[in-house]
Amino acid sequence: MAARVLVVGSINMDLIVQCERVPEQGETIHGDAWRTAPGGKGANQAVSCSRLGAETAMVGRVGEDEFGARLRAGLASDGVDVEAVRADREAPSGAALILLEEAAHNRIVVIKGANARLGDEDVAGAGRLLKQADIVLMQLEVPVRIVKAVAAQARACGVRSLLDAGPATAEAVAAGLPALVDLTSPNQVEAQAFTGLPVRDLPEAREAARRLVEMGARDVVLKLGEEGCYWLGAEGEQHVPAFAVEPVDTTAAGDAFTGCLAVSLAQGVAMPEAMRRANAAGALACLKLGAQPSMPTADALEVFLRERTG
Ligand code: ADP
Repeated sequence: MAARVLVVGSINMDLIVQCERVPEQGETIHGDAWRTAPGGKGANQAVSCSRLGAETAMVGRVGEDEFGARLRAGLASDGVDVEAVRADREAPSGAALILLEEAAHNRIVVIKGANARLGDEDVAGAGRLLKQADIVLMQLEVPVRIVKAVAAQARACGVRSLLDAGPATAEAVAAGLPALVDLTSPNQVEAQAFTGLPVRDLPEAREAARRLVEMGARDVVLKLGEEGCYWLGAEGEQHVPAFAVEPVDTTAAGDAFTGCLAVSLAQGVAMPEAMRRANAAGALACLKLGAQPSMPTADALEVFLRERTG
């Protein structure tokens, strides 16, 4: 039987603007190009899980607007069950305005929109879907109160919970979330925000993971970019190196990684092997432009793993 994953999280439309430089105050300039692309950590991870073959359901909110309809339809066409993705009358769909300036870092403004309005009805919907799930996957782009409530429900009905610890806002850090879920998976920046410790290399990652365990985390899987990932839990610890690739665009590598980790664990794969598979999904996502377009399928993952093994 296919692994069953429930994702409770954010759904955004990314508005990507390419320009030579950003305008000064009061100035209007011509940009080079613009496009829209579906995004949001929750939706990206749901697409990752579904493409990897899991029966995936999502709880989230979009606006009652054109973007909302497109985002919902896009998820459905990727095989995600969107029955519990509601259209909110009071807020627009979440959006990220991404300014790609030549020769400079990206500038991104995220408008939470409907994602900020996840409420008690959504928690109730998650409660019903949890009964049919092997694992629930959450991130921090929806209200912390909702993450806490779903984590508590998962614990009450014995469903494994995985928290992608991004973005690590002050509110999320203060909420003690690692103690409320079964597995916490931050990237280096997020691990630093949660622990207050620098996380620049493997020894520092070990320290940060230890601190997270002291803070009540059961299992921690730290995402370490081109260094791969590091796990610390009651049953062991391990560093699994990344696959060597030449990245084209690392956007959403973390989403591909976390989606694959959730699916692998739901399939009953043991931790070090689940981490190796997640590393492969993250590496594959680095080889394609964009967020959701770069999420690998189960076939692509198997081919890559076969090529890279032995
Ligand atoms: P995030 O995207 O959340 O910032 P990371 O940058 O740590 O997270 O990437 C997530 C995972 O993707 C890593 O743990 C690794 O498995 C894979 N990955 C990311 N960057 C690279 C890279 N340059 N080469 C190979 N694998 C990578």
